[in-house]
Order: sequence, then structure tokens, then C-alpha cells
Amino acid sequence: QVRVRFAPSPTGPLHIGGVRTALFNYLFAKKNNGTFYIRIEDTDQTRFVPGAEEYIFEALKWLGIEPDETIGKNEKFGPYRQSDRKHLYKEYALELIHNGSAYYAFDTSEELDALRKQAESDGKTFIYNHTIREELTTSLNMTHEELEARLFNNDPYVIRFKTPIDEVLVVNDLVRGEVKFNTSLLDDKVLFKSDGMPTYHLANIVDDHLQETSHVIRGEEWLPSLPLHFMLYRAFGWESPEFAHLPLILKPVGNGKLSKRDGDKLGFPVFPLEWTSETGEISSGYREKGYFPEAVVNFLALLGWNDGTYKEIYTMEELTQSFDISRVNKSGAKFDPEKNKWFNHQWLVTKSDIELANSFLPILESKGISTNIDYVEKVVSLVKDRANFVTELYDLSDFFFVAPTEFDPKALKNWKEDTNDLLDKVAVILNSIENFEAKNIEEIVKNWISENDLPMGKIMQPLRISIVGAMKGPDLFEIIFMLGKAEVLERISNTYK
Ligand code: GLU
Repeated sequence: QVRVRFAPSPTGPLHIGGVRTALFNYLFAKKNNGTFYIRIEDTDQTRFVPGAEEYIFEALKWLGIEPDETIGKNEKFGPYRQSDRKHLYKEYALELIHNGSAYYAFDTSEELDALRKQAESDGKTFIYNHTIREELTTSLNMTHEELEARLFNNDPYVIRFKTPIDEVLVVNDLVRGEVKFNTSLLDDKVLFKSDGMPTYHLANIVDDHLQETSHVIRGEEWLPSLPLHFMLYRAFGWESPEFAHLPLILKPVGNGKLSKRDGDKLGFPVFPLEWTSETGEISSGYREKGYFPEAVVNFLALLGWNDGTYKEIYTMEELTQSFDISRVNKSGAKFDPEKNKWFNHQWLVTKSDIELANSFLPILESKGISTNIDYVEKVVSLVKDRANFVTELYDLSDFFFVAPTEFDPKALKNWKEDTNDLLDKVAVILNSIENFEAKNIEEIVKNWISENDLPMGKIMQPLRISIVGAMKGPDLFEIIFMLGKAEVLERISNTYK
């Protein structure tokens, strides 16, 4: 039975990399008829950020990555927030002490600071590990009485994992195959803190065990924690879940991990929703920038995964059918903001004209334009092929709603001495057309042009400039038909002179 989880720490807005982790867990669960649950890992109280938990749930909901179980929903193995489970962890830390896998450490932060400084001045780095643990103030080198006295005295302590010396661990990862670690290179990580809270490592393992997680799918940044987690399962005598570490998401230019700063520099969001920090700094979000959730899901799915074909456009349903964890790449995936816009365009054109019109209408209203939805729907059908975002529709179609007041100077280069006379003649022709419908207008105007032996561009270009203001827009006869005779004649008479 597949049970996977997304286990974010509410330390800020959910980064796009976190969203991809959630998505891959979700897809893996759906593909395997399993369960996807969300657990909030908030044991580090110093990093708690108000609003972050709500943000995570809202963002995933917007994207359609809905958990089967979480806080307030099918709480089969609840609670699903670690701070609500805090009473649970200490007995597990003690169990590891009793079986010799962990120990009490009473070193004060002053003592540890002094050791760090000493090491630094010797040109070394202080590592709390097997080379030094026997010399420190721990239960490993204390008599039973001494330990009892300290505990009775409420001396502050942490509980550390006693990492075995010189063992080579071989752990299987579903993405990268066998990964080897030498335990002598690891430090003795804190499992339980002096504030009575477990660290991420202990809480994560205990919960994955109690909540019956079958597969741990998470970002590559957690790979260094894998040996400790592996040893913790072993120390408890628990069966370990399978692991899959997803490749990093890389900067669009240069090397290294994608960061918020890359987004700021190149003007793209790295968060699903807009986020306002405690200091009032606003970070943009995909939702507010006009991305469709389907497009965000689609481009994230292809960051580090493909189904072996050239297919690029997937619905969530198609993704759940095609997803295969063994096809996740080992190497990092470059983030391409331009490609993301392309994905949004692909999704925009799949929307019905009326749906797009309904999103576009409020934009028009905010500009003081009063129009009707049928007209907007037709406009949308004519211009949507060029839009990546609903917010771009106005620039592509403004002339359908307001007459041009300025004329693109570049386009006016071809305005000749006889242009205005010719346009007046076109106006007479247009005025005489009874069946004022695109195809018919086109036929009549073009006939008139060829009967008069005029080059097509000599009429068509100034006509477009008069009506549109620039050399842009869809088929001119469609525009003329949409605007109607009176409006078109008015625009010609007000044209550039
Ligand atoms: N709480 C960790 C995080 O913030 C979870 C890592 C894991 O999935 O084990 O990403």
C-alpha cells in the first residue's frame, strides 16, 4: 500500500521547488492508487512564520494538489501537525538511549563555542562526532549516579545520535540508485533539544513510521540526511520506507540552485501565490501574475521528469497516468521562465472564449470601458492566439474598444500625399456596403483596389492604421465588421492627416 507525504516546514511561503515535491508525491500516490497526505513539520519554533501554514494549503489547493489526509481531513494517523504531537517524541529518544544508539549531552553552548573557537584557531572545524564525544560532557563518560544527579537537577541537555564509526552504509534511492556513505564522516546529530522538542530528524522518522509512510520523496537537499535517517530506522528496528531524492531546480542562467533573487532579477515569480513578508516586502506569485494552475502544474511536472516521448502538454489526469518515478532525472533541472510563459499560452488557448471573456471583462471594466460579454467573447476569439496571459489581451485588442488617438510613427512612414484622398474613397465604398459582414466587405474593398490598379498595401496599411492605430491586430476585415460601419467611418474621418 503506497502512502506518501509532503512534509513542509512553515518557515515562509512555499517555494516552487517545494511545490514540485508536493506534486511528485501526489502523482506517485495517484498513479499507484495510494494515499497522499500532508504533515506540517513545525518543531523548530525559532523559524515559525505566521501565515506560512495557511499559505501552503491555499497554494496546493489552487494547484489542485489535494491531500487525502491532513489537518482536519481524514485524520487517520493524526495529528498531522508536529507541534500537536510533541508529547510523543521524547519516549522515542529515550528508547534510543536505552538501546545504546543515542546519549545525553550536557555541554553548554559556552563550552561548545569555546571548542569551536579553539578548533578555528588550530585551522580546523569543530565537529561533534566520535573523535571527540568521549571527552565531552555526555552520558557516555559519566557514572550512572552522576547522570541521575544531573537529570534530577534538571540540568539542560540534548539527546544526540551515537553515529557508528567507520561503517559504509549503502542505501537505495529510487532516483539515483545505490548511494554510499561512510559513517565516520558524519556528526552526532541532535535528536532531541533542550527546549523539549524533537529535531526535524527524530520527528520526521517517528512520524513517517507511525503514519506508515511507504516512500519518502523529497528534494535533493535532504540527501545528506539520508544516512542518519537510515540509521535511525535501523536503531528503532523499524522497516525503512523507500527513498527518492528529486533533482535540484537550477537557475535559468549560471550555475546553482534557483533562488528568489533569480526571480527578482529576471522578473518571474518563484512562489505559487503572492506573499507579503512580515517586513511588508511583497513577492510575486504565479496566480497573481496570471498563470493558470494547470500551466504551473504542467511545467513543474517536466522539471526533472519526462515520459520518454516529446509530449509536453499534460493535464493532471494525464500526469497521474504517465508518472513514473524511475524516469526522474538524476541531474538538476534548469528553470526556464520563457518556457513557462509558453506553457501558459498553451493552456490559455485550450480555454473556451467565454471563459477567457469572463476573466477579461473585469480588466476592461477597470479601464472604464463598458461593453457586453458577447462582443468580448468575439474579440477574445480573434486575438487569443497571440496571448500568453489574460492580462495581455487588452494590449492585443484595445482598438476593439477605443478608437486610436495616436498613430504609430513607424507605420506612418508610408503615408503618401494621396493617402488621405484614397481613404476618403474607401470610406465611400464602405458606406455603400449593405451586407456589412467580414467576407463581403473584404470582397468589395479588394475588388475596388484591383479595379483601380492600386497596390494592395497602399490601401490596406493606411486603412489599418486609421482603424487600429498601428500595424497590429487580426484580420482587418474582421475588425471592420466587429466595429460596425459607423465607428469605422468615424475612425477614417479622424485619421492621421
Ligand atoms: N520538513 C522538511 C522540509 O521542510 C521535510 C523534508 C522531508 O521530506 O523529509 O522540507
